[in-house]
Amino acid sequence: MRIRSLPSHLINQIAAGEVVERPASVLKELIENALDAGATDIKIWTREGGKSLLVVQDNGCGMSPEEMEIALERHTTSKLPEEDLWNIKTFGFRGEALPAIASVSRLTLIAAPANTETGWKITVEGGIKGKIEPVPYLKGTRIEVRDLFFATPARLKFLKSDTTETSHILDVVTRLAIAHPQVSFSLKENDKEIFSVPIHISEKGFVDRLRTILGQEFAQNSLEVTAIRNEMTLKGLISLPTLSRSTTASQYFYVNGRMVRDKTLQACIRDAYQDVLFSGRHPMLALFLEMPLESVDVNVHPAKTEVRFRDSGPLRGLILGALKNTLAEAGHKTSTTLSQQALGQFSQGMPQRSSPFPKPFFSASSSSFVRQAPLSPPSSGSSALQEERTPSSWEKPSFRPFEEEKIAENIHHPLGAACAQIHETYILSQTQDGFVIVDQHAAHERLVYEKLKASTLQDNVQRQLLLIPEVIELSGIKAPLLLNRAPELEAFGLLIESFGEKTILVREIPALLGEGSLKTIIEDLAEEIEQFDKATSLKEHLHEICSSLACHGSIRAGKQMTLTEMNALLRQMESTAFSGQCNHGRPTYIELKLKDIERLFHRT
Ligand code: ADP
Ligand code: MG
Repeated sequence: MRIRSLPSHLINQIAAGEVVERPASVLKELIENALDAGATDIKIWTREGGKSLLVVQDNGCGMSPEEMEIALERHTTSKLPEEDLWNIKTFGFRGEALPAIASVSRLTLIAAPANTETGWKITVEGGIKGKIEPVPYLKGTRIEVRDLFFATPARLKFLKSDTTETSHILDVVTRLAIAHPQVSFSLKENDKEIFSVPIHISEKGFVDRLRTILGQEFAQNSLEVTAIRNEMTLKGLISLPTLSRSTTASQYFYVNGRMVRDKTLQACIRDAYQDVLFSGRHPMLALFLEMPLESVDVNVHPAKTEVRFRDSGPLRGLILGALKNTLAEAGHKTSTTLSQQALGQFSQGMPQRSSPFPKPFFSASSSSFVRQAPLSPPSSGSSALQEERTPSSWEKPSFRPFEEEKIAENIHHPLGAACAQIHETYILSQTQDGFVIVDQHAAHERLVYEKLKASTLQDNVQRQLLLIPEVIELSGIKAPLLLNRAPELEAFGLLIESFGEKTILVREIPALLGEGSLKTIIEDLAEEIEQFDKATSLKEHLHEICSSLACHGSIRAGKQMTLTEMNALLRQMESTAFSGQCNHGRPTYIELKLKDIERLFHRT
């Protein structure tokens, strides 16, 4: 066996294995080249998911015929002027994309330098360069990639259906377009336009761009984030917890303008939303991080979508802090999607206008909502509540009438003045320009949870001494399990003692806990604790424990409340962070604006 150098076309094909995984990765390299060339308009055409044809045309600086020849060689680049891998301002720097793509496809490069009259064209087939020849002038550069992987059939087999490849392509274009509001983009697949954005040049161009791309729903239900710490800045838009997705596909991260996929960043987002989202749900967001070039290594992988942070601690602090603050400030806002969904439900049940005797939803005489149009929170997580509602509460609907002075006193608050309790489950409150329906259990649960968490953190939980200590018998090994944790449970306001093998004695409970059954609370808590690692302290599981206590210790659906109690609850919601959803991510209230209601009645 002799050691020898590999021929250059093989070296390029090997490099292509890393950079060029599928049409979308080719497209990413070509668009990034166009951006590096200062383009302000990028047009893309694809056929068969980019497998048979992929064209990128830009209006950037173009190339001279000499530059075109060199650009197709391996490790040739016009970038990296200071030859410093820790100071990379361009997307490209490795000088391997063009030769790699050319080694596995039929690539045509057409370009012209600025201020000339002739353009030039060169074609490379499977790595073999043809002759460069003149063509009519064209501003910028056009690269056509045909028959991707024709030279490496094994690779070809790994490509997915046209639709799948197109969706990857669309994802790449979307990700790059989000980060470059100053550039217009269009994408046509088989001559059909599937993506197009104009230039967004206003001061807040990135916000306009994001709203255009991510749509109306996101635009209305997102919050702007800005934060600066040390030499790092963070800006972006994040969705309200009530607007979430089942995957992280709608999360866009950029580090110094470069789109990245990064586990550290994803973990920060999970933690920031942990309190306010169901597990398995993910917020939509786009975050732009700027940091000193030397504090992040972009040269981790040829595809350059991975980065390595020199120190992820402060970065995590910045993101977590900024997101949590922004979410907390928006505390009692819930997504407008909810009221839209609610309105949808109303209109579905709307009586036909032609009907001579439309059945009213709300009849003043019986003072109740009719059964056909139950007002249930639109969230899928509402089943627990529905189960809790006993059939009898349907049979004797309750409607508490309003008291004028209480309305005047409270109407100026964001969540308005309580006017009625419906089915002993929902609070109806009137605001200045609409009305709000509050799920009393979900809302109270959120308040108890937040307070319990805050007071536990400050070691300041108010406890309530039970006049008669309660003896609770527990199944399995729950009694000893809880007793082992007794000193720690005290910090949460729960004082328990041993009372026989399977029984414990509860002496004190957190004062915040309402009427819930103590046995259920304790059983539930034990079950939760059973799952924790023995070595971790209960305070590390603050969220789970407070959540479990709050869930059973809150006002039930089905409890009658006075107007004063209801108003007090509304005021507390306004002053509590994250009160727009309960600990399980269910919404706590829905707001309907007068103008929406007027629309329903065809008044406008
Ligand atoms: P890199 O981007 O890492 O430099 P590439 O192989 O992608 O390597 O490109 C090689 C060179 O070709 C670039 O450095 C640049 O000078 C030139 N080039 C590629 N695409 C364009 C374009 N669209 N407009 C102008 N120059 C380009
Ligand atoms: Mg490049």
